[in-house]
Amino acid sequence: MEIQENVELKDYTTFKIGGSAKYFCIAKSTEDLQIALHFAKEKKLKFFVLGGGSNLLISDKGFGGLVIKLKFESCKVNKNKISVDAGLSLSKLVHLALDNSLSGMDWASGIPGSVGGAIYGNAQAFGTKISDNIKEVEYLDVKSLKVKKAFKKQCAFTLKNSIFKKNKDLIVLSAIFELKKGNKEEIRKNVLEHINYRKKNHPISFASAGSVFVNTEKKITNKNLLAKFPELKYFNSKGAIPSGYLIERVGLSGKQIGGAKFSDIHANFIVNTGSAKAEDVLKLIKLAKQKVKKVFNINLETEIQLMGF
Ligand SMILES: Cc1cc2nc3c(=O)[nH]c(=O)nc-3n(C[C@H](O)[C@H](O)[C@H](O)COP(=O)(O)OP(=O)(O)OC[C@H]3O[C@@H](n4cnc5c(N)ncnc54)[C@H](O)[C@@H]3O)c2cc1C
Repeated sequence: MEIQENVELKDYTTFKIGGSAKYFCIAKSTEDLQIALHFAKEKKLKFFVLGGGSNLLISDKGFGGLVIKLKFESCKVNKNKISVDAGLSLSKLVHLALDNSLSGMDWASGIPGSVGGAIYGNAQAFGTKISDNIKEVEYLDVKSLKVKKAFKKQCAFTLKNSIFKKNKDLIVLSAIFELKKGNKEEIRKNVLEHINYRKKNHPISFASAGSVFVNTEKKITNKNLLAKFPELKYFNSKGAIPSGYLIERVGLSGKQIGGAKFSDIHANFIVNTGSAKAEDVLKLIKLAKQKVKKVFNINLETEIQLMGF
């Protein structure tokens, strides 16, 4: 495995933003990953594990350590179980399930990125989370460089979170998904419906990193707010307030700073209109946090992950 120097990173992300990595490598196996981590340890470098780069904002200055792009991608189907490597794209997992008439992954159609990245952030859509169908996860413990296993319970999955997000020294290597036998045509129909929904409701013609903020699980009880924003009662009953709604209501839908803009189609997306800098995106994030705090007394939690800041 080659460790390259000064590699431009923006094309490894869906945002198309960011500087260069001082060191960069593509790990095609656990052994490659162990070699890369050993290199980082020897040189006293920080490391960053990169999946599909679809939930990521990289600093304009880049990253002074080693970026390890995971590219181990094997998969195996055994009855209703699918074992997949962390570097496999989520869309390949969706299609593998479909081809084998297994239901439970159709909600993920159209979500870019890798299986490892989806487990790290407990990816979710249309009311289903990746953790719903996970049986176990194999991971590398960076401290000991040993491969370990965690059953679903031990992964501490919560809203857009997992043990792998809380502890950056645990790198997802592979996972086993337990799915249900289903009707192939029905699964195909669901997959297409979800893709069509995204085409209609997400700004897919622009570069982005998906939802910028996690939806808020707080209930609003302030009478003035409930009177001014009647939709909040509905969100209270659902248990989560969409961040896109909050951003729209504070008047930031369509707001542009430099080349970055809150999408007019879905306000929880910041799109790169062509020449956005990471600094532009950060300014928009800061502005939304300030305004939403002032109007709704809600602290927005940033979902997109940062590298090099
Ligand atoms: C158009 C669009 C639509 C989207 N829609 C959705 C959606 O509906 N639902 C949703 O949840 N997300 C959505 N996203 C966000 C994103 O696609 C998901 O969060 C995805 O799961 C991220 O995976 P990734 O491989 O790209 O991770 P990356 O962006 O590469 O990395 C994200 C974080 O995960 C860590 N990571 C990656 N791989 C591993 C690993 N193997 N072990 C440990 N840590 C790892 C990285 O270090 C980083 O901190 C969308 C994004 C876009 C651009």
